[in-house]
Amino acid sequence: MRRTHTCGALRAEHDGLSVTLLGWVNRARDLGGLVFVDLRDRTGMIQVVMDAAADTIVGADALRSEWVVRIEGRVRLRPVEQRSARLATGDVEVEATVLTVLSEADTPPFPVDGSVDAADVNEELRLKHRYLDLRRPEAMAPLLLRHRVIKAIWEFLDREDFVQVETPLLTRSTPEGARDFLVPARARPGHVYALPQSPQLFKQMLMMAGVERYFQIARCFRDEDLRADRQPDFTQLDIEMSFVDQDDVLELNERLMHHVVRAATGTEISLPFARLPYRDAMDRYGSDKPDVRFGLELAVLDDVFAASAFNAFRAPLDAGGAVRGLVLRAPHAGAVSRKTIEELEAHAKQHGAKGLAWVRRAGDAFSGPISKFLGDGEMVALAALAPDEGDLILFVADRWSVACTALGAVRTHLRSLLDLPIAPGHAFLWVTDFPLLDRDEASGGWTYMHHPFTRPEDDDLPLLERDPGAVRAVAYDLVLNGHEIGGGSLRIHRLDVQRRMFAALGMDDAEARERFGFFLEALRFGAPPHGGIAWGLDRLVMLLAGARSLREVIAFPKNQRGVDPLTDAPASANRAQLDELGLTVRERVS
Ligand code: ASP
Repeated sequence: MRRTHTCGALRAEHDGLSVTLLGWVNRARDLGGLVFVDLRDRTGMIQVVMDAAADTIVGADALRSEWVVRIEGRVRLRPVEQRSARLATGDVEVEATVLTVLSEADTPPFPVDGSVDAADVNEELRLKHRYLDLRRPEAMAPLLLRHRVIKAIWEFLDREDFVQVETPLLTRSTPEGARDFLVPARARPGHVYALPQSPQLFKQMLMMAGVERYFQIARCFRDEDLRADRQPDFTQLDIEMSFVDQDDVLELNERLMHHVVRAATGTEISLPFARLPYRDAMDRYGSDKPDVRFGLELAVLDDVFAASAFNAFRAPLDAGGAVRGLVLRAPHAGAVSRKTIEELEAHAKQHGAKGLAWVRRAGDAFSGPISKFLGDGEMVALAALAPDEGDLILFVADRWSVACTALGAVRTHLRSLLDLPIAPGHAFLWVTDFPLLDRDEASGGWTYMHHPFTRPEDDDLPLLERDPGAVRAVAYDLVLNGHEIGGGSLRIHRLDVQRRMFAALGMDDAEARERFGFFLEALRFGAPPHGGIAWGLDRLVMLLAGARSLREVIAFPKNQRGVDPLTDAPASANRAQLDELGLTVRERVS
């Protein structure tokens, strides 16, 4: 069976060599007794020529796409006029002496020979036959890149004295802000395991165990309302370190990323990464994961409208909110019509804004529905921002986070609408100085921004009970080209602080003990100061591969409804399984 070469390896220098190849028939053409086969394996493609009349070449005229064959033959140079620059092996071909058919194939439900663009094939159909889809070199490439990324991670972290440890998949809930996937336990009727949303508590307990430097390529599970860019099971690079401060974690991650990007793609990225405090990220870009590769920064207009007679702007300010603006000048202002503004307003509303106000510079004054409400001072301030005829200012006035986020969404949408040029390369960025807690709109209480184990800034500890919203966290996110690709924090390592944190989240002692008793106990026995991070590995690979969806970088992904079209999971459980688990199903969805 052994091959001497892979299909993609043959070059002019192999002229005259006897070879054995294995692979799939990409395409076969019978030109009157001479059969030309493009033979394909993971490494590439080579042209094979067979004389169908030869004794040792049985069945050449029957060959079809996707049959699996073994070829013995001799490499020869193609005549100059028949060389192909399209293939890396295009200078040579193999003249077959023996053909063995190893496996026949039905006609695939969609062509994988490159004759049809994958984008023109229904994605559901491709996922249903993902093993065929992956035969396309462009589909396989992200998996190979992913392999190189993980290999580079291992190399680097091993060299830096990190230890890889696996943590359980059948475990107890680890809150990361999503719903848990639950697995009923047969041996303990009425009880469930939760699949980990992350290895958070285990990696912290590994620090308490003295591992000091841990990593894991960890599978995580989050039952979230599926958005386009989410998978219910996904992969993190999970890292935790003892006796570190924030700079230690950030600096190690920068060097790791540098190594990974270089090893996996051959590109050099520049260090250190920029750092942007959360508050600035929101004020300037309207996002906690800003794409800083193009300008169009938001304008802070709180001072301009602080004493405005225009109630729609002043009232939010009186209530502690904000007014943010987005200034468009020539040539972009002219490209934004009233109809476009309506489209932008829809985006702003999706992000919680009540509307999108606007004014356009017209002569010495402004036109637009709200222009008549502008006072003289406001007019002067806005005129400085929009000095030329036709310049446009868009506004959102609301709670601070809504004003920023809504206008940030408008900013991102304008980028694609106006086709604004984007600075080339990878724009890595740390967002730092997150608040520890956020208002939970539904309950009116406080909820964690990151997770309940994140350390408050020491100086802010006294505020934890008095003014929870003002407490800063030692937490950081890693952003690449407008995507969050990682997040982490220093952790609480003192029992009293962890208890106060649970209390701030509205959890009484009994509940804290019920949910996290084992962890509170672990904190009693000498926990080192520690901190870490997790990278969203799928997303990072997606960005490095230039892929458009996470599904392209996952071998067997689920679709946007969380269904795996290949196996049709999730599937119904049969009666016997349910009985054994002590479960009854109230309503079955077909
Ligand atoms: N466990 C966190 C997460 O999954 C990451 C971390 O804090 O290290 O987002």
